[in-house]
Amino acid sequence: MTTEISRRGLIGMGLGAALIPAVSRAQTAKEKGGVGFAIVGLGKLSQGQLIPAFRNTRTARLAGLVSGHPEKAQDIAEQHQLPSGAVYTYADFDRIAADPSIDVVYIVLPNFMHAEYTIRALKAGKHVLCEKPMATTIGDAERMIAAAKAANRHLMVAYRCHYEPLNLAGMRLLRSGRLGKPRLVVTDMGRNADPSDPSDAWRLDMMKSGGGALTDMGIYGVNGARYVLNEEPLEVEAWSQTDKSDPRFRDVVDFYSWQFRFPSGAIAAGSTSFNYAATMSWHVISEHGKMKADPGCFYSGNRLTVSEGMDPEIREIDQFAREMDWMAAVVRGRAPMVSTAEEGLQDMRLMNAIMESAARGGATVATNFGFRRPVDPAAVVDVVPA
Ligand code: NAD
Repeated sequence: MTTEISRRGLIGMGLGAALIPAVSRAQTAKEKGGVGFAIVGLGKLSQGQLIPAFRNTRTARLAGLVSGHPEKAQDIAEQHQLPSGAVYTYADFDRIAADPSIDVVYIVLPNFMHAEYTIRALKAGKHVLCEKPMATTIGDAERMIAAAKAANRHLMVAYRCHYEPLNLAGMRLLRSGRLGKPRLVVTDMGRNADPSDPSDAWRLDMMKSGGGALTDMGIYGVNGARYVLNEEPLEVEAWSQTDKSDPRFRDVVDFYSWQFRFPSGAIAAGSTSFNYAATMSWHVISEHGKMKADPGCFYSGNRLTVSEGMDPEIREIDQFAREMDWMAAVVRGRAPMVSTAEEGLQDMRLMNAIMESAARGGATVATNFGFRRPVDPAAVVDVVPA
């Protein structure tokens, strides 16, 4: 308990990663046993956030790496004291079926590769944590869900904000009724894409990303409006704007703006762009008060401002560590699944509806797909069950 508190304090000051040696943390996790994760795709998110987050996990431990660059993978394996047999290539990936140290395969590949590797991992008998968006087509998302059912394995989508304290605090305050009924939610999620960065090159390719800024950043607003309000939209109207003279937008739409109408009467207005200043913000105007999260979905440093006297106490944690520990707890039967594959499919359908409405000049598109979130993150996510 003492370790947990001091670690959280350090992370809050942005010092956790620097002061805690990776080796000792890796050993501690191993000694504890835990749930083994193989990371597939060693790009920006894996190297910048996920692999470092294993220093802060309680039961999730790094057990394997899958990469097309064997030298890079071996280097990371050595740093984390993984045996050379724990490094896989995309070609020999299916060999993980015989590796008992790997329980969960975490898919951190470009979006168009999520379906193939998720299904291969499930067929290998592993549970899967898949990055957002879960796929680039609704058909792929449905195939992934069917594969998880057939394999009787868990498939979770990595919606990190479901585990992030500021977003949970905002949800809880709204659920408490202290601000009255939410009337308007506004979400703005985007940044300037850099086509010279290989990590952005595939995001600017429609086939590989499934929708440019919308599926990369706008998805946080689509999902966010739903978890803030805890209901599902009935219909959407959307518009788009693309400067075709900008070489970044030969293939994908640059800018989307939309409005969802919810059963309670609330409206959620959203925007996303790969051509505006880096923004991940949401705000809510309710009957008797309002709250603003800006930034609301960054990796750290999020800020929540609420009507006078209602600011909740928020302690920053490593949201990636909590998310992976939550998946580990689901696998061990200690926690309910929160960010389900069906939740991922719902966002795919809603983003498709935004694209369809915008392509039809703002036409109203029905979005009542019958999805109901089985578990409210605000009701369950806190300290990960041991
Ligand atoms: P990235 O481009 O930095 O990394 C992708 C990795 O896949 C690279 O190591 C690359 O070498 C590998 N790869 C294998 N085959 C490839 C191919 N055919 N084309 C391109 N790359 C190939 O991307 P990233 O930013 O790490 O994003 C990976 C996934 O994580 C995406 O689905 C993205 O949406 C998601 N993501 C989520 C968050 C979050 O906060 N949850 C943040 C960033 C990215």
